[in-house]
Amino acid sequence: MDCIFCKIVGGEIPNYTVYEDDNVLAFLDIHPHAKGHTVIVPKKHFVSILEMNDVEWNGLMLGIKKAAERVQEVLHPDGMNIGINDGVAAGQVVQHVHWHIFPRWENDGGGSVHSIIKSGEDIDVAAVAELFKK
Ligand code: 5GP
Ligand code: ZN
Repeated sequence: MDCIFCKIVGGEIPNYTVYEDDNVLAFLDIHPHAKGHTVIVPKKHFVSILEMNDVEWNGLMLGIKKAAERVQEVLHPDGMNIGINDGVAAGQVVQHVHWHIFPRWENDGGGSVHSIIKSGEDIDVAAVAELFKK
């Protein structure tokens, strides 16, 4: 499969490993947005998290936490943003599920997850809530 993250998992492309277990590989992003910007990928190829079963999901979640602990231990950031671009519309470029860890420091100039999109001004939250009752 022509997937760059599968090639990294398979050792075809080198990486700077942050954390690894049976389910995940976490490595430094090649184009970091912050010192220690880390990408965590499930070792099995999925395009979207919606393809993962509960066991696979749990393994990935644990791996993300372990990777975050390692980042904290080594770099001592003041905080972290941890998130995913799932789907092209959400900014996903590499079509293999991956989480990002952005280590954050006081006054580093970055924003919060709320800065990803701000087009909710006219949304009727009660009407959206009705959709979830069906
Ligand atoms: P996306 O926009 O799909 O959520 O993020 C993909 C990320 O993968 C980007 O931050 C990009 O810098 C990173 N990336 C792409 N190719 C490579 C690579 O070959 N090695 C590493 N370490 N990171 C990569
Ligand atoms: Zn892949």
